[in-house]
Amino acid sequence: MSAEATSRRDTATTASRMRLLRREFTTAPRPAPTQFVDDPRTAAPRSRTSPAHSPAPMDLGVLDHVIAAVTEVIEHTLAVAPDAGPAPTMPDEVYQWAATATSTAGPGEQQARDTIIYRQGLEHAIAMGEDTVIRRHPCPQCGTYGLLWQSAARRAVCVHTRCTTRDGGPTSWSLAQLARHHVAATNSSARRAT
Ligand SMILES: [Zn+2]
Repeated sequence: MSAEATSRRDTATTASRMRLLRREFTTAPRPAPTQFVDDPRTAAPRSRTSPAHSPAPMDLGVLDHVIAAVTEVIEHTLAVAPDAGPAPTMPDEVYQWAATATSTAGPGEQQARDTIIYRQGLEHAIAMGEDTVIRRHPCPQCGTYGLLWQSAARRAVCVHTRCTTRDGGPTSWSLAQLARHHVAATNSSARRAT
């Protein structure tokens, strides 16, 4: 796959995760509808009926996450392309807007944009509890698969016993590092292919 096609696919993936995140995790709580219906047989008011399924309460942490993500993309885009025009109001549309607005920017700037968008895609997946997305990445140091996500430290740890830091501990990677590695690897394999 060309670097451009991979970039398009990753942008679409991040956007759809953002859509899912907003739909599933930031649903505002609605008061349960209260109905008083006269039962025709008894003419006595029936008790309240509550819906079988109430929407999940709004997760303010997720809302903050969405706002921070959108702000980062808009600020980066406007720094590269000041005449990008107004950003879309829907958070999941901001990625395509950023890609279009910076499509003629230099390769370094496009790589930086792709890295932000890819990292946010990982962040959205993890915010939804899907930390298995980490396992699809080879370790940036040893190249083997087997990264484990440690949520407290927010780092991916390599389980390969010979893959250690200078002081002998296991290597670990931030999402930003994994994203940089993914985008750089995509771009360099595309360069080799041409
Ligand atoms: Zn490793």
